[in-house]
Amino acid sequence: MNKPTPLIAGNWKMNKTPQEAADFCGQLRAKCESDRAVTVAVYPPFVALSAAAQALRGSSIRLGAQNVYPAASGAFTGETSAQMLLTVGCTSVIIGHSERRHLLGETDGFCAEKVEMAAQAGLEPVFCVGETLDERKSGHTERVVGRQMEAMLSRLSAPGKLVVAYEPVWAIGTGVTASPQQAQEVHAFIRGVLGRKWNDLGMKVPILYGGSVKPDNARELLSQSDVNGALVGGASLDVDSFVNIVKAAKEC
Ligand code: PEP
Repeated sequence: MNKPTPLIAGNWKMNKTPQEAADFCGQLRAKCESDRAVTVAVYPPFVALSAAAQALRGSSIRLGAQNVYPAASGAFTGETSAQMLLTVGCTSVIIGHSERRHLLGETDGFCAEKVEMAAQAGLEPVFCVGETLDERKSGHTERVVGRQMEAMLSRLSAPGKLVVAYEPVWAIGTGVTASPQQAQEVHAFIRGVLGRKWNDLGMKVPILYGGSVKPDNARELLSQSDVNGALVGGASLDVDSFVNIVKAAKEC
């Protein structure tokens, strides 16, 4: 099967003001655009989404949010709906990031509800899964990732725009990257789960790797047969480092 166009997605987490986001996006579009060889996306914090959208107007670089709440509107203080994200120019949203699962106690079921809501609204859900170091050491990687996947799949009748990101918790922000073989093994497992649910359509769902991706390790990770792109945290905050990861994806 031909590999889909790789997606290089920058998760800025709680970094950059609206002005910094606009400056970054201006530089990014001058240095690279999404094209047939690679799709580029950025995920600024909520307060910087409008500024980023303005700076990216007319560009092929995609804009996404880092979270969404699974209700259309109502008494949910501090939360943001899928429809609201669409109105500021988002086409994509990260769901189930390990920082939200572990620091904020988001459950498999809650993350699954968000995926359903995002998909219904026409957003691209970038659904994150991954095991902790203890879980890996105890040989439970597939059990944990399988459980996270099944919870999400139970709420979705078709893949639509779904993207899955495998992000081993022990590799996020630690400088420790999964080896290309470790990443490929889990990606192949996830591909199997998706294929059992949706046959050929499931097999085509893009699966990103995330966890300390840097310009110097991106090419090897992205060359793996089931790795279809990268969700990049720390290395997406500097425009040149992010662009170099995009360039590595073009060379794979
Ligand atoms: C992330 O937060 O999604 C991530 C992968 O972070 P980092 O690249 O910094 O490990």
